[in-house]
Amino acid sequence: MSLDSRPSRLVAVMAHPDDTEMLVGGTLFHLKDLDWELGIITMTAGDCGSATVAREEIARIRYAEAQDAAGYLGARYACVGLMDVEVTFNATNLRRVVDVIRRFDPDVVITHSPADYMLDHEEASRLARGAAFALAMSNYETRQNPPSPHGRATPALYYADPIEGKDPMGRRIYPQFYVDINEALTRKREMLSRHVSQREWLRSHHGIDEYLDRMTAWAAGYGSECGFAYAEGFRQHLGHGYPHEPILQDALRGLVHVRDEGRKSDVES
Ligand SMILES: [Zn+2]
Repeated sequence: MSLDSRPSRLVAVMAHPDDTEMLVGGTLFHLKDLDWELGIITMTAGDCGSATVAREEIARIRYAEAQDAAGYLGARYACVGLMDVEVTFNATNLRRVVDVIRRFDPDVVITHSPADYMLDHEEASRLARGAAFALAMSNYETRQNPPSPHGRATPALYYADPIEGKDPMGRRIYPQFYVDINEALTRKREMLSRHVSQREWLRSHHGIDEYLDRMTAWAAGYGSECGFAYAEGFRQHLGHGYPHEPILQDALRGLVHVRDEGRKSDVES
């Protein structure tokens, strides 16, 4: 429970539809089991996620798939409305992101790793970090019509693992802690499978169920680093001005493996 005894709230702020499912879906199911209120925000509706369907049509399809997947988790979904490959940190986009996150008034925000394979992910991470800082600032006006009310407090900020656990130079970025998602893996796979257009696209390309199996292989790889069958990794943003309390780690105690203190968030060269 949060301070005012309402259920704790978490919002995942990611670039594209399916990023949340891929990176943190198992952890979100555990939090749902603990009665947390969950939200998923994507920067785009995935308008470049097809080689055969026009932009507007695939964006419409993927928006519906993202809503369906969020519904399966029991989360609210919102899209900021930016375009694929053009997710960019600037004042106009920051105002839009702040306004959408304010609708959720979260205690915890999870976003992409600051270093990831794709710029959309890195810029979404910057937007989420900047937005989290500004959420509770009453003087920060988002200039939307009508604007969402400002938040009550700066939320705790966490970073998911980058895709494949690697930075853009292919170096492993280790998490501060892992979450055991063995009990949630079946639900995570089902949630990801709701992104039918993406699953079928890869299946037609590869002839195998690459979409679900790749996610499962990544989760097994992270698990092999910490003694879990399947895991997701996280780092907490510990800069000045953000909550330092280990809110997620405490909520998920019993499912968390913390890496050795001396190797926190280290990068393998
Ligand atoms: Zn993505």
